[in-house]
Amino acid sequence: MLSLVGVGRIRLSDGTGTEQKRPIFTVVLAVLSLLLTAAAPAGPSAAALPAPPCTWATEYNRTLDELGENRAQWRATDPPGGFWGTGGDDGAVVSPLIPCRYVADVVRHEHMHLQQVRQFGSLGFAQFVLGADRLEIVADCASMLAGSRYTPYVELAGGCTPRDLTDARQLLRDHGTSLGASAGTSNAEALTVGAGR
Ligand SMILES: [Zn+2]
Repeated sequence: MLSLVGVGRIRLSDGTGTEQKRPIFTVVLAVLSLLLTAAAPAGPSAAALPAPPCTWATEYNRTLDELGENRAQWRATDPPGGFWGTGGDDGAVVSPLIPCRYVADVVRHEHMHLQQVRQFGSLGFAQFVLGADRLEIVADCASMLAGSRYTPYVELAGGCTPRDLTDARQLLRDHGTSLGASAGTSNAEALTVGAGR
């Protein structure tokens, strides 16, 4: 940034070996200085501004929209068993007690269970095909690929295997809209509450 300090003492050579005052030039410099000063940000830079506060409903709705989810298949209420969320044949449930910063990641995880239902027809058949112990890791790997940072099953397993990632990518591709509506069956897998999280 230019400074006004010393403007009055600016001298330029006129080519004759002597120095000559150039008042017009100093005025131009002064005006430029003022313009640049006025254009400078008055407060802290944009990068230093705090992030907007996390709002539960905003996170929830934004993530559902990103995923192209049908809200009719989602409920924000306490799932049984103290879970943060469940997803299965009857749709998905997300606890309103989840800390706001985890809402998007939990919604993505439960969305992947709905995708498993859409891909295989039911969560039970998904479990049969994928293997009993692979529903959660595949859902969590897909959630991670979709942008989640809170992926407790991935952390527990120490990462996703190539097979996990192949099955996870299939969930990302298969974005059907119809859920197998088998009323009365409750085949939901749950994302458990991580201790201390
Ligand atoms: Zn799960």
